[in-house]
Amino acid sequence: MIIILNSATTEQIDKILFKISQSGLEPHYVEHYGKQIITANGNTKNCSIAEYKKYAGVESVFQVSSSYKLASREFKQSKSIVNVRDVAFGGADIPVIAGPCAIEGYDQLKETASAVKNAGAVMLRGGAYKPRTSPYSFQGLEEEGLAILQAVSKELDIPTVSEVTDPRKVELVAEHVDMLQIGARNMQNFVLLKEVAKTNMPILLKRGASATIEEWLMAAEYIMADGNSNVILCERGIRTFEPITRNTLDLSAVPLVQYLSHLPVIVDPSHGTGIWRLVSPMAKAAMAAGADGLILEVHTCPEEAASDGPQSLTPYKFSLLMKELKSISSALKS
Ligand code: PEP
Ligand code: MN
Repeated sequence: MIIILNSATTEQIDKILFKISQSGLEPHYVEHYGKQIITANGNTKNCSIAEYKKYAGVESVFQVSSSYKLASREFKQSKSIVNVRDVAFGGADIPVIAGPCAIEGYDQLKETASAVKNAGAVMLRGGAYKPRTSPYSFQGLEEEGLAILQAVSKELDIPTVSEVTDPRKVELVAEHVDMLQIGARNMQNFVLLKEVAKTNMPILLKRGASATIEEWLMAAEYIMADGNSNVILCERGIRTFEPITRNTLDLSAVPLVQYLSHLPVIVDPSHGTGIWRLVSPMAKAAMAAGADGLILEVHTCPEEAASDGPQSLTPYKFSLLMKELKSISSALKS
């Protein structure tokens, strides 16, 4: 159950919270979209909506059938737009984020960033903390990588996203980037989710490789329950029985999540396939499926990339893809 309040006083709010806990439910107060909200969590079947409507300060009361409340369409019917500086996710335009898997040095990042920006990318990606499967693989340039990312972002005037893997590093990463990325491996790292929520910055929440749609939306709920509504979801492929591709890109997640939630959903065909040949076709398919954006890995020399070379597009292939995406985008709008 969700209770929307209108300029309720602390005393009025406390009365409602007390009533909810007395009924054996878990109350939670949060503010979103300029509204005061209380969620009552648990089995609310026998709750009387009319009874809660009588409380002073209450504007409306309604039941939400899903386990995620604030992330649900039942709570908010209109699609949410999440802004990262001047880039809007969830609106009419389909922003493309591009850049290397990992920041390897200033020259590499500057060259890649200039190329992707010239081709039409509106945000730059680059990992400074790399969650690698093997502890012996390149782990990222860490703080030095963040400084490079920030410098290139300023020089080219392009907003950035980078992954944060450790709750103790959230403040540091937040000082250097415009959007924080929660990687697939950390989708259910609840301590990390609570920590990034506090920044109130835009959060790119990747789907866990073995996460159901409901688990993914519940992870978004963690961020929203702590008052941060700036969540962008990212489908990046799930683990199936198929070993040729790195993951199986679940494009049906795009329209499904857009039906279940008001949050924008973007697609990562690079991690979703692991094979550069499949990246452009799946990027185009994602756009046709209604994705609210794309995130793609680009490397000036994929054979020499410190990570994820096999799934990285060269700047040239990326520029060809951007032209094709433009045609698809106009076809979709016409
Ligand atoms: C990444 O985007 O660099 C990354 C590691 O992705 P994922 O968390 O989806 O594997
Ligand atoms: Mn990668």
